[in-house]
Amino acid sequence: MPGRLELIYGCMFSGKTTELIRRLTDAQSAGRRVVALKPARDQRYAERELVSHAGQTFAAVPIDGPGQIESYAEGFDVVGLDEVHFYGLEAVEACRKLVAEDKRVIVASVDTDHRGRPFAVFPPLQAAADELVHRTARCARCGGEAEFSQRMIEDDSPIVVGGADLYEPRCRFCFRRH
Ligand SMILES: [Zn+2]
Repeated sequence: MPGRLELIYGCMFSGKTTELIRRLTDAQSAGRRVVALKPARDQRYAERELVSHAGQTFAAVPIDGPGQIESYAEGFDVVGLDEVHFYGLEAVEACRKLVAEDKRVIVASVDTDHRGRPFAVFPPLQAAADELVHRTARCARCGGEAEFSQRMIEDDSPIVVGGADLYEPRCRFCFRRH
């Protein structure tokens, strides 16, 4: 089978990891050799598992950075990468290489940061993807369709790891750029 890049994207709490777990589980059931990788810094739920906000799980290898993606992907047909917005552009290059090796690469990423600006990896990933899966959440203020991740604390660092304690999904109208 030819290589393929699938990009699941959207704001926080939009079900990206749920969709990633669903695709990885299906591939595994179909007899494919599947590996999931996640940033070691993301230990909100479990160190060695992908965990959706809804509670589904899939075994995952924690990696220190995108430089480890290729070596951990060796020997697998399908590679799942969660929270790719945590990485730099090196991650995009790693994905391209895996696809060139005829692997199916399934990536989950938040598209825009707490100010509504795209994460560095997002535009090139979007351009390279064979399939784009856009997920939305329910706005925490008005119940409308949310596409933004509102940070609820005063911290302007590009990456602040947190869950419902630090972020809430907001629609374009309710989203406030700090
Ligand atoms: Zn709203």
